[in-house]
Amino acid sequence: MPPKNSKSPSRSSNISKNRPGATTPGADLKWWQRPVRMMRRDYVGDFERFMKSDLAKLARESRDRWHINCEWVMATPGCAPGLAHQTLFNSSKFEKFPKLGNFDMLREYLPHAKKYGVHLVPYVNMHWYSYDFAAQHPGWEQLLEDGTPYGRKHPLYGNGTTLCVNSPWRDWAFEMIREVMRTGVDGCFLDGPVIFPSCCYCETCRRLFAEMDGGGKLPSFGDWSDPLWKPFLQFRAESWANFMKGAQEAAVSVNPEAVIFLNGGGFHTSALETARDPSRMEKFQNFSGAEEFFHCSTEYKSPFCSLNLARFLAAGEKPAVVFTHHALSTWHYNPLPPAEMSNALAQTAAGGANTWFAIFMDAMDTRAGEAFEGMSVAKFLAENDPLYTATSSAAETAIIHSNRTLYYYLTRHKALVAEAGGGREKDLVFEAAQKPAREDLSACRTVSAKILNNEISGSFDAFNFAHIPVKVLWDEHLVPEKLQGVKTLVLPNMACLSDRQLAAIRAFVEAGGGLVATFESGCYDEWGEPARRPEWLKFLGIEKIEGVFAPSRVEEYMTVKGRALRGFADGYVMPRTVNALKVKAAKDAQALVYFNHPIGLAYAKMQGASEWPAVLLSKRGKGRVVYAAAPLFESFNLHHLADHKELTRAMTRLAAGTAGLQVETCAPGSVAIETRAQKGRLLVHLVNTTSEMKRPMERIIPLRDIKLSIRAKGIRRIKACRLNKTLSFTAAKGRVAVRLPAINDYELLVLE
Ligand SMILES: [Zn+2]
Repeated sequence: MPPKNSKSPSRSSNISKNRPGATTPGADLKWWQRPVRMMRRDYVGDFERFMKSDLAKLARESRDRWHINCEWVMATPGCAPGLAHQTLFNSSKFEKFPKLGNFDMLREYLPHAKKYGVHLVPYVNMHWYSYDFAAQHPGWEQLLEDGTPYGRKHPLYGNGTTLCVNSPWRDWAFEMIREVMRTGVDGCFLDGPVIFPSCCYCETCRRLFAEMDGGGKLPSFGDWSDPLWKPFLQFRAESWANFMKGAQEAAVSVNPEAVIFLNGGGFHTSALETARDPSRMEKFQNFSGAEEFFHCSTEYKSPFCSLNLARFLAAGEKPAVVFTHHALSTWHYNPLPPAEMSNALAQTAAGGANTWFAIFMDAMDTRAGEAFEGMSVAKFLAENDPLYTATSSAAETAIIHSNRTLYYYLTRHKALVAEAGGGREKDLVFEAAQKPAREDLSACRTVSAKILNNEISGSFDAFNFAHIPVKVLWDEHLVPEKLQGVKTLVLPNMACLSDRQLAAIRAFVEAGGGLVATFESGCYDEWGEPARRPEWLKFLGIEKIEGVFAPSRVEEYMTVKGRALRGFADGYVMPRTVNALKVKAAKDAQALVYFNHPIGLAYAKMQGASEWPAVLLSKRGKGRVVYAAAPLFESFNLHHLADHKELTRAMTRLAAGTAGLQVETCAPGSVAIETRAQKGRLLVHLVNTTSEMKRPMERIIPLRDIKLSIRAKGIRRIKACRLNKTLSFTAAKGRVAVRLPAINDYELLVLE
């Protein structure tokens, strides 16, 4: 049901006001299946501040100034020294946070929240406990292999420990969830539990693993040579999902409409260390959520992080939510600059996810103006709620994100474990690859993870900068119904795929689809075991994989052959990728780019093209395969070179065949374009991140005269919702051409 008492967003919506006969999409959806805009006020232990507040005013502000319809009030503290065992509401079953006396944060605030149409989903800390509490409950702590509790060796946030999902603590946790639900709230957000790296070796875990089919004695953590290592990884992921199943049952036992969800993870090989598996988890939660925090970092940070995470999470069956701190990275008591905050929210919504932010209340004493200024996009989202309801990605290009590959990718090419030179000139000496290859499995895993993490992030951004809207498909989405509307599939070094997945990909291409695949895609089975798959290699255009080039980021090149790649002249020379395979092309494959003979030295003469192809084009059935014998996107993520972006675009265009790309535009790469579909509408989101380019990012530079050509049929009207302007356009050959006169930070085009 839509929130009661709230200012109906559809009434103030420009789009629905002007359009006769419009029906509200998704009218039959539950509240959490409609657009949810969440926030948390963070008091960091100073809950008396909340107690002394005018709660009615807070709730009104939630709706009118923060533009939210769902709020997390703390049910248990998430602060030092690990106070997850205390409650901030009244319960006869648990210890109360002493400073609150009889004040019940949930029950006191609930009527005010309801009055303003704000659903209450309290925050429940499930991962950070004090040493004292753990000492009272032997057998509950997560243990390292040597029996040391994890939190004694790695104190959480400097002080505190963590408990095991398989231990008897789970029953304590489920009772906590039931007690929270008994206050009358709409659900619970669980912050944790977290299965920590190198855990868990507690008595219960040892026993359960021994009893499991194919189980036995727990292997050493990270021992890739132990046959029980992979079963252990499965056991950990299953343990977490099993905990979540119990948690959900506990919540709905009190309120059948209860929503519950936790802080999951994004697309990173650390999923292995922390046992994350979004598709396993989504069965037991109402939202797939993950953090995109810490906007400034000493490492490279994509300008499109929130968009990328939103797309990844929105691939699932459940609504997605991206968590954004309204805080300047690790300086929590300063709000995020308004430009960045608006941008993060716009990216999240454009990617099909719900928004969430936390504001640290001490920041509001002096910086409230800035904090509220960051809400301009939030206001727009609230006012145009129907345009974000019941939408799905309309991207014609789909990137496969295989969790199995994140877990099990372990390259068999030991020569990749040579360290590539940093490319920095120091004392007139380039750091070049000099170290001998370490031939142990864990070094191979380290290098595999590094390649994969860069490849995945880089694939998102290469497509963003190339203005190619993409959607994400998880492992289990390689089925015909999920591939409807997809014209091109992308395998960014998705190495560990099952025979069934490969068959689905081949069927898709043979029926007329395009495939862009890189590096070792499909070279391993779904357990990461090297697979002998001559048919698959042939399908990619490969006769044989002969080995690898030494990794390098200094003075190596590749050369374009012929004119098949739009935008590249015959003989065009561009930087080689850091990593590269030596493959022999299949007879029926056409080589479009060749790796040059290695130079191995800086300021030495170029050596010309070698016999090793870098990019191959093969016709397969009615479709086309474009294969790069390199993790092309890894290099884009590392070096951000225009040539690699243009190569991505040219390869995708070739794979798409005569249909061409979904979107063509003159916009700079700093404008991300996303397409989403709603009944009778195509929604084109444009997020402008054009700014000072380097931190401090304080201002978005508005752009003018953006020309777009978009594949869309039967369009009668195009409206730019933030400009509140109907745009003129021309239509021909299944495409519309439209000029957007101006864009500030975000625009939503509605094509009807
Ligand atoms: Zn355990």
